[in-house]
Amino acid sequence: MVESPLRNLITGGAGFLGSHLVDRLMESGEKVICLDNFFTGSKENIAHWIGHPSFELINHDVTEPIKLDVDRIWHLACPASPIHYQFNPIKTAKTSFLGTYNMLGLARRVGARILFASTSEVYGNPEIHPQPEKYNGNVNPIGIRSCYDEGKRVAESLCYDYMRMHKIEIRIARIFNTYGPRMLLNDGRLISNLLVQSIHGEDLTIYGNGNQTRSFCFIDDLIDSLILFMDSSYKGPINLGNPEELSILDIANLIKTTSIKKVSLKFLQKPEDDPLRRKPDIGIAQRELNWKPKIMFNDGLKITREYFQKKLT
Ligand code: NAD
Ligand code: UDP
Repeated sequence: MVESPLRNLITGGAGFLGSHLVDRLMESGEKVICLDNFFTGSKENIAHWIGHPSFELINHDVTEPIKLDVDRIWHLACPASPIHYQFNPIKTAKTSFLGTYNMLGLARRVGARILFASTSEVYGNPEIHPQPEKYNGNVNPIGIRSCYDEGKRVAESLCYDYMRMHKIEIRIARIFNTYGPRMLLNDGRLISNLLVQSIHGEDLTIYGNGNQTRSFCFIDDLIDSLILFMDSSYKGPINLGNPEELSILDIANLIKTTSIKKVSLKFLQKPEDDPLRRKPDIGIAQRELNWKPKIMFNDGLKITREYFQKKLT
């Protein structure tokens, strides 16, 4: 008997991560419903699938319930960049809590497995380095990042309660900083800001002294890990990211030295609650998913720069 293709719902499917996931699942012959309210996503990211018989696009806000018949839910809807999630922090908290509540309700009703896109931000400004999944975090509950951080924390807690009470199949992915093509030009994040500035020949903006660190994972590696995780029997939470830790200054200097136009560094005030260090312990992902990132930062940066260059010409 020929198995029918899996029916996937991807919330936030028109965004950066979501649209790459749409591509992968469509290329594997699965069915995809892409649901988005287009706050930070765009039709351009998924335009190449519109009209395909296995693809459907729904303009919908996850804070409102919806009934759909699907096998798998990839729940990614939520702005990820600080400038976007701080634009309307109350809406961000609603998206995390109500959006996840609605998607868990749908998963329960139709018996779907649900993967929730959580974040390294659940660790806040970490006192443990690198961060293992068992670390409970150090989050300021009333700061300007808390709509996002605490929103994701309560959403994780909802996932676990739905699993315990209603036996639904959950997968919690704690995603660390990810970069690559289809990041928004005006995303306000480090990699997009610095690459766009270098292409324009503008000074590269460093918030604070630049000694804070992050670990950046290229989009293709991250999508591999999400798919392996959804297919696995491990429920998570699981850290997904690249453990190569770099300081913001290291990254700025790399972009400066490889910039076609001559650029300098410009130091600005560091935002409130900006975490000082961040690096995933990916031991569980390696053991349970047999996954580790393959793409070196230099190579991923080159691909991303080419994307922005094309966008800007
Ligand atoms: P993104 O902003 O590009 O994509 C988010 C998508 O969700 C957009 O298409 C947006 O329009 C949509 N959306 C937002 N609110 C919505 C709502 N209420 N209803 C329906 N759609 C809504 O961000 P991204 O980088 O692709 O992030 C995707 C997910 O991964 C987010 O949940 C984010 O928290 C998580 N994540 C991302 C990163 C990263 O570095 N990119 C790191 C950790 C976690
Ligand atoms: N950052 C910076 N200059 C920029 C944008 C960001 O120095 O133009 C810093 C920011 O303060 C943070 C790090 O780079 O310490 C990563 O920021 P991003 O917004 O990309 O991710 P997040 O803070 O959410 O991890």
